[in-house]
Amino acid sequence: MKKTMTGAEIRQSFIEYFQEKGHAVVPSSSLVPGGDQTLLFTNAGMVQFKDVFLGMDKREYTRAVDSQKCMRVAGKHNDLDDVGRDDSHHTFFEMLGNWSFGDYYKKEAITWAWDLLTKKWGLDTSKLYVTVFKDDKGDIPTDDEASGIWKQQEGMDSSRVLYFGRKENFWEMAETGPCGPCSEIHIDRGENFCNRKGEPGHVCQVNGDCARYLEIWNLVFIQYNRVSVDRFDPLPAKHVDTGMGFERIVAILQDVNSNYRTDLFSPLMMKIRELAGTSVKEMDADFTPYRVIADHTRAAAFLIADGVVPGNMGRNYVCRMIIRRAARFGSKIGLNQPFMAKVAQVVIDHYSDAYPELLKNQQSILDNLTREEKRFQRTVESGVSHLEELLDGLKASGKKILDGGKAFELYATHGLPLEITRDIAREVNLDVDETGFKAAMEEHKVQSGAGKAFGNMGGDQVEVFRAAFERLVAKGLLPASGVLYDPYNWLEVDTSIIGLFSEGEELEQVESGSDVEVILPRTGFYIESGGQVSDTGSIVSIDGDWEIRIDDVRRPAAGIIIHTGKVIKGTVKTGDKALLKVDRERRMDIMRNHTATHLLHAQLHRVLGDHARQSGSLVAPDRLRFDFNHPEALTQEQLESIESGVNREILASHPLAVKEKSLQTAMSEGAMALFGEKYGEKVRTITIDEEHPISYELCGGTHVDNTGDIGTFIIISEGSAAAGIRRIEAVTGRGAYEVIRSRNRILHRAARLTNSSIDEVVTKINNLQDEVEALRNQITRTRQEWVRAEFEQELGKVSLVAGVPVLSVMLKEADVDSLRQMTDVFRQKNPSGVVAIGSVINDKPMIICSVTDDLVKRGLNAGDLVRQAAAIVGGSGGGRPVLAQAGGKDPAKLPDALASILELVRSKLE
Ligand SMILES: [Zn+2]
Ligand SMILES: [Zn+2]
Repeated sequence: MKKTMTGAEIRQSFIEYFQEKGHAVVPSSSLVPGGDQTLLFTNAGMVQFKDVFLGMDKREYTRAVDSQKCMRVAGKHNDLDDVGRDDSHHTFFEMLGNWSFGDYYKKEAITWAWDLLTKKWGLDTSKLYVTVFKDDKGDIPTDDEASGIWKQQEGMDSSRVLYFGRKENFWEMAETGPCGPCSEIHIDRGENFCNRKGEPGHVCQVNGDCARYLEIWNLVFIQYNRVSVDRFDPLPAKHVDTGMGFERIVAILQDVNSNYRTDLFSPLMMKIRELAGTSVKEMDADFTPYRVIADHTRAAAFLIADGVVPGNMGRNYVCRMIIRRAARFGSKIGLNQPFMAKVAQVVIDHYSDAYPELLKNQQSILDNLTREEKRFQRTVESGVSHLEELLDGLKASGKKILDGGKAFELYATHGLPLEITRDIAREVNLDVDETGFKAAMEEHKVQSGAGKAFGNMGGDQVEVFRAAFERLVAKGLLPASGVLYDPYNWLEVDTSIIGLFSEGEELEQVESGSDVEVILPRTGFYIESGGQVSDTGSIVSIDGDWEIRIDDVRRPAAGIIIHTGKVIKGTVKTGDKALLKVDRERRMDIMRNHTATHLLHAQLHRVLGDHARQSGSLVAPDRLRFDFNHPEALTQEQLESIESGVNREILASHPLAVKEKSLQTAMSEGAMALFGEKYGEKVRTITIDEEHPISYELCGGTHVDNTGDIGTFIIISEGSAAAGIRRIEAVTGRGAYEVIRSRNRILHRAARLTNSSIDEVVTKINNLQDEVEALRNQITRTRQEWVRAEFEQELGKVSLVAGVPVLSVMLKEADVDSLRQMTDVFRQKNPSGVVAIGSVINDKPMIICSVTDDLVKRGLNAGDLVRQAAAIVGGSGGGRPVLAQAGGKDPAKLPDALASILELVRSKLE
């Protein structure tokens, strides 16, 4: 064994080894797969090359090496259950791989793998085993080619070349499509590493499911296209796809018994111990919380760096769940205050050299972690105590499984993710119905309008187009690289019709009135991507005898571009010469909006901070929509500052510079790459003002030449798009002018209605409001005067009951205030007495009753009096003994109610 390498050195030496063998060094793609709706997270090195294997994407290189960020927490590959319990599972991990796209094959792949492991890294050949495919079903030939090459390797004993069937040694992407045999390299780490010693029936062996024999590296040889259950056609181009779990190889080369004891994790462990104030001994006695915290914090940091923030659905849910799970394990070792930002800082310090996005998004990572821990703190106690009640109830009833709907309620109302509920249930030997939880969540999602998360891959008629494409290439009508595409320069260009389709059928000619799909040798119609919608326009014959309206353009497979529309005049034939015309006015609107989107992005960073990264966008002719990470609603000031900032840069008339660069150069220059986008080796960059860059983004979209062309930029709305994500909608150019014009019209109308000018309209409205207020007050005063006059007349009707003055009256047009004032008027005239005043206010009967103090002492109570009256008018009432009021529903009963008060007073006093 050579000198022990650090994890970073091991990663680097892998990449350099293959770089020396002519491989392009390809950066890891984002954890959020670009353009693949079927996948929650990038879960293998394969993901970013999938389309290359499917023949739908081409790269400039045929050999590649990479270290890919992966997450396995959901779906088929779900390792979460094991994370924390053992030493080899992670939610986030790195996958080292070398790739051949129709270039080298088994001989090189095997020889290099063996050379790297045994020579460069110095693994003992006598400890290594390899496995080769031998079909247990007998349909596919044994991979003798691979076993022959293995047996020729230096130090390889043929007894250590073993054969396994489909489960272990055959790889498929799906039920049909590219597939092939694989070869794995395993290592015997020695008897002491067995974690199943003494289990009945356990034998330590390759693929024997214990920690003594470990698979290090899987070499996949893609050589077949699976057409049906038992039909495997050979592929014209054979590929190599290899994968080596990085954390595992580091553990092996550093000779430790746990991935968590490699130098990839030890600085995190040290930080956690320091925060918790625990010793190495204490940690070793209860290693699980440390493993969970280290794994989950590392995963969360990488997720946030790729734009995933804690939230309620899909990826955001996973981000939230792992943060909360780590926080709960933190509380088990005394970490009761937010601590993950401090651990994440260590991740950032140690991983930023290999993954600079961590440093770039440092603040966002730290802020999001702390914010989420605080949110969880607020609800966790009530959630856990509620869960414990449920679990006690479950135990008492002798059941073992917690209902999934209840588990979802715990999440929806107390913020306890399923995974934590399950952790807690399992600690007392109970479990949770996960299917029920997911069903409840899906239902909630549909109810809340979020819809189902996944769409399909959209493979409509691809085969028809592909067949036509191959024929066109063979005839020399299309270059092998496919339709020439230049949406930047070819807004109007001569072309010809080389393929015509209608309703899925290839035709020689199509008549006016029919829907049609067209293949041209070259096109300038932009194909929807990066949020920018497709162009529309027309294709017309050179001599003007036919015309096709084009409504959409798409690329169903690499090289093939299909224009969809309708023949609106004449008959189109294949071979016809034609002129392509993109709708220029619409395209100009789109370009204004696209360039404005870049300006907006830059202003969001200026006003809100670097965390406000794009998480989605739509660039349409009539508006632009921009989603970005930000935890709260924007204030009016922020919105104004953003809007005026964009307009300032528009007026500065900055020129735009468009360049082609390698992805690496652009990234190292700090170009902004977008969330969920897929980039090839060569990228297009858009810089607004190269001399003093205002914005520098990777972008394939179409743009104006100068920001001055945008005209005006107006924000028309700001709102929430999802948890932690805000959305701004805005208009530019003609759209902005429309907004201004319609708002101007409204203003003119307001001015006319108020008999003023636009400049004076606000003052005028203020004055009108004051006037209305004054009139209202005057009406109130007049009404009160009326009421008083009416009441004063009634005062003469006071009757004496046992020598006590008693008055019961009905007043018209009164309000509650004036009724109360009238009781005062009565008291002034009668130092001892009872008054009850009724009135119908807004169609409802209302009674106020007052009893002087001396009579309260004699047993009279205003509250009692109104309560009885209230019952008569069908309502309720109450108050103090001296003053009470009642309301009801039936105004016709008001005289009876007042009479009843009089009766009650009489009976009490006499
Ligand atoms: Zn064993
Ligand atoms: Zn763009």
